[in-house]
Amino acid sequence: MDLSRETLKMIFGKERVEDDIFGVAQELLKNPKGYRQKVLKYYENEKAENPEICKECGGKCCISAPCHWRPQDIEDLSYDGLKKLLEDKKYISILQMPSEVCECCLREVFATGDYYYVLRTRTRGTGIAVIKAEIHRDDPCMLLKPDGCQISFQERPRGARLLIPMKNYKCKSLYDFDDCVYDWEDYQEVLSELFQYFREKEQRQIAAEKNDVHL
Ligand code: SF4
Ligand code: SF4
Repeated sequence: MDLSRETLKMIFGKERVEDDIFGVAQELLKNPKGYRQKVLKYYENEKAENPEICKECGGKCCISAPCHWRPQDIEDLSYDGLKKLLEDKKYISILQMPSEVCECCLREVFATGDYYYVLRTRTRGTGIAVIKAEIHRDDPCMLLKPDGCQISFQERPRGARLLIPMKNYKCKSLYDFDDCVYDWEDYQEVLSELFQYFREKEQRQIAAEKNDVHL
């Protein structure tokens, strides 16, 4: 969630933020989702691409962790629609996280089940259905190649499009992980079913490959 002073001023007004920051904080705590939606709406058409800075940097963000997708990035969010998308694109994964990974701001959504699911771009080392414990630091996004990201700016997930490159590489994220978790709250059932489908399929493939090697 973007809580920078600059963004708070956009949403609550400059004077209010300067004169009554505690009042602003109280209002925000009463309705964090409402605030988050206003921020995302405000930055909806932000064009953050800056190939020059990113080329010099070499993709530090994409090396440390792939970016996350918003439901709004995807046209068909039905079971069949998402299944087809994941099978066709092959670079999007369903990430399963245990509820206890939540931080205080996420408790209310994580409390609904043992696991939570979001979509993020695949790494080079993981499959379509991935559990949090399989993720290693510095396992780069599979779309990162020496010449940069392999999909156009418009095709990239919102997590990428709302990361503002900075010259000092302390880039500003307007779409954080907690935003992503809130966004996928209404799609947990379908993501859970798809996770099971792809997990079983991938495990069958691994077993078949092992059997082939032993023959
Ligand atoms: S967004 Fe920032 S960290 Fe990512 S490649 Fe560009 S400059 Fe580097
Ligand atoms: S999809 Fe593109 S921008 Fe996002 S992490 Fe992968 S290489 Fe980077």
